[in-house]
Amino acid sequence: MSSTKVTALDHIPVTQLKGVGNAVAEKLAGLGIRTVQDVLFHLPFRYQDRTRLSKIGALRPGMEGVIEVEVELCEVVIRKRRSMLVRVSDGTGMLTLRFFHFNKQQQEQFKRGNKLRCFGEARRGPGSLEMVHPEYRMQTQAAELEDTLTPFYPTTEGVQQASLRRLTDQALMLLKSNRVTDWLPAELIQGHQLPDLASALSIVHRPPPDADVRALMDGLHPAHRRLALEELVAHRLGLRLLRLRTQTRESPIISPEGKTARALLASLEFDLTGAQRRVLKEVVLDMKTPEPMLRLVQGDVGSGKTIVAALAAAQAVEAGYQVAMMAPTEILAEQHLLNFAQWFEPLGIDVGWLTGKLRAAQRRDAIEAVAMGRQQIVVGTHALFQNDVEFKNLGLAIIDEQHRFGVHQRMALRNKGAHSNVLPHQLIMTATPIPRTLAMTAYADLDCSVIDELPPGRKPVTTIAVENNRRGEVVAKVDEAIASGQQVYWVCTLIEESESLQAEAAEDAVTTLQDALPSRRVGLVHGRLKPKEKEAIMQSFKSQELDLLVATTVIEVGVDVPNASLMVIENAERLGLSQLHQLRGRVGRGSAQSHCILFFQGPLSETARQRISIMRESNDGFVIAQKDLDIRGAGEVLGTRQTGLAEFRIAELGRDSDLLDTVSDIGDRLLDAYPENVHGLIRRWIGEEKNDYGGV
Ligand code: ADP
Ligand code: MG
Repeated sequence: MSSTKVTALDHIPVTQLKGVGNAVAEKLAGLGIRTVQDVLFHLPFRYQDRTRLSKIGALRPGMEGVIEVEVELCEVVIRKRRSMLVRVSDGTGMLTLRFFHFNKQQQEQFKRGNKLRCFGEARRGPGSLEMVHPEYRMQTQAAELEDTLTPFYPTTEGVQQASLRRLTDQALMLLKSNRVTDWLPAELIQGHQLPDLASALSIVHRPPPDADVRALMDGLHPAHRRLALEELVAHRLGLRLLRLRTQTRESPIISPEGKTARALLASLEFDLTGAQRRVLKEVVLDMKTPEPMLRLVQGDVGSGKTIVAALAAAQAVEAGYQVAMMAPTEILAEQHLLNFAQWFEPLGIDVGWLTGKLRAAQRRDAIEAVAMGRQQIVVGTHALFQNDVEFKNLGLAIIDEQHRFGVHQRMALRNKGAHSNVLPHQLIMTATPIPRTLAMTAYADLDCSVIDELPPGRKPVTTIAVENNRRGEVVAKVDEAIASGQQVYWVCTLIEESESLQAEAAEDAVTTLQDALPSRRVGLVHGRLKPKEKEAIMQSFKSQELDLLVATTVIEVGVDVPNASLMVIENAERLGLSQLHQLRGRVGRGSAQSHCILFFQGPLSETARQRISIMRESNDGFVIAQKDLDIRGAGEVLGTRQTGLAEFRIAELGRDSDLLDTVSDIGDRLLDAYPENVHGLIRRWIGEEKNDYGGV
C-alpha cells in the first residue's frame, strides 16, 4: 500500500500485516477480524500491571503482582495430587509457588538461593500466600519492568496473546497515517470530555506510562468510556433497526380453537399461577396477529416458564405450525425434551431432538424430518439454527435462558424459517431479571412480560455460609439429608477457568465424598462427558437411583429435580451473585424445606462477603440482580459471562449503566440526523456477515 495515501483502515485487509498468511487470516476471521480496523476494535478485556514490583508482605489474596524473590526450599509433595512447592521470600514475607505440572529441569532451577521474578495472582494457601502456576523468569541480572500495563486480548486456538499484541502494534502504527472513520459526529458527544476515537483506541491498546492505572484497570478511563459509549450506541441502534425491520415482515396468524392447550392443561397435576396465566394470555394474543411476536418472558428460577412455553407451543402446533425450542446447553435441552415429550406425546404430538452432538446419520434424519414438516416440535441447542437446518413452516421459536444467547444468535434465529417474508413468532425466556434501564439497551427490540409469582407451597431456600475448614460438618449434613430421603447436589466450581480442571476437581470431590459416605450412591456430571453419559446420569438422579450428584456449573441453568433439597456450593466466594442465584434455584422446587450451603474459603474479600450475605438474606431474583449491579457498580470486575447480557467487547452494562441515558439520546439523534452513519457504526461493532440489521 502506498504510504502517502490516507486509506480508511476498514479497507486494508488484515493480510497486509506482517505475520498474517492465509492460515492465520482464517483463524483471525474466527475472531471477526478481517481488516486492520477490525484489529483495532479487537479490544483488550483486561490488563495486568507489571509496571512495578510488589512486596510479598503487601500482597493480599486476589491481588496480581510482580515479585522478585529468592528460593528458600523446593519440594515435591503428593497429597491429593502430585505438586511441586517452591517456598520463596523477598525479605518482607514468604510465599509458595505451586506447580501441578512440572519437569526435572524446573525442579533443578529452583535451588535454594536462586533468584527469580514471577508474576501471578496471590491466593490464600495453607499457611502462606501462594501463586499457582505463576509466570516466572530466573534472574541472573537485573531486568527492566514493563513501562505500560500489559493488555490481554480475547484469543482463539492458534492465535496467541503475543501475536495479537504484534498485530495491534502494527495496526496502531497504521492508525497514525491512516484514518478510522468516526461515525459519531463531534456535536453528539461534545460536553462529555471524551477523547477522539483514534486516541481512545491507542490508549486502550497501549496505555501510556503516565495514564491513570486504576482507571484503566477498572475500565473507567475516558478512553474506555468513549469506546463503551460507541459500542452501546451501536447495539442499541442495531436492536432498534432489527425491530423496525421485523415489523415490516409477517408471522403466521396462530389462532386455533385451543383444544390442545386445554388438553395439556388438564393433564397437569397443578393449576397455573395467576402470573403464568397472565403471561400466557399475552403470548397467545401476540400470536394471533401477523405482526411478529418478539416477547421476553422474565421469571425467577422456578417460576414455571417451561409450561407457559409449552402451552404456547400447543397453540402453534394446533394451528399447523412447527415449533422450535432452543436451550443454551445440552443438559437443559435434554431436560426440556423430557418435559415436552411427557406433556405432548400423550396428546399424539411427537417431539424431536436436534443438537450438535448427534451422529451424522441421526442428524441427517432429524434435519429431514424438520424440513419435511414431519416433526412438529423440535427441542435442541443452537444446532437447531445452523445453516443446513430448514424448517417447513416454523411458526414459533422459543429460546430458553436467553441470557446465554447474544444478539448474534437472536438474529440468526430470526432468519430461520423466514421464507420469503414470513418470520416465526419468538418467545424468549430468561431467569435473569434485568433492571429497567438496562433492559432498554439489552432488549431494545423486545416486549417484556414478567412471571412475578412462584407456584404455591414453595418455601424459600434457607442459605447458610460455612467456611471450608468445617467440611466434616457439611458432609454430615449431606448424610442426614440423604438419610431422610432427600437428594443432594454438590457443586464444584472452578478455580481455574478451564472445563478440564473443573472436571478434575469434581472427580476429586467424588472420591472424597464417596470415601466419607461409602453407603451413599454418588454420581458425577460435568461438561466433558458425552451427551449420552450426561443424560444417563441426570436421568438416574431424577429417578432417585443416585443420592448425591457432584456437578460442575453445567447444572447451573434449568435443571429440574424437585426431590433434591440440599445444595452445597464449593468456592462460593468466587461466584457472582447471578450465578449463585441460578445454582441455588436448582433446589427449593419440591415441597420439602430446602437448604443451600455456601462453602467458602476464607478470609472473604469485602465484595465476596457482601455477595454471600445478600444470598443469605434474599431469594428474590430481582432484588439480587439489583444488588449485583450495585456491587459491580462499585468496581468489582465481573465479565459479561456472569451477567451474560450481551457479548460486548468493552462495555459492561453494570459498570457503564450511567452512560445508558446518553446512549439512547445519542442513538436517537444519530438515527435522525445522520442515518448514513448508522450502518457503518453497527457493522464495526457487531460484524459484517452475522449482521442482519440491514441498511437504513
Ligand atoms: P423455570 O421458570 O425456572 O424454568 P420450571 O418451568 O422448570 O421453572 O418450573 C419449575 C417447576 O415448577 C417444575 O417442576 C414445574 O413442573 C413446576 N411448576 C410450574 N408451574 C407450576 C404451578 N403453577 N404449580 C406447581 N408447580 C409448577
Ligand atoms: Mg427453566
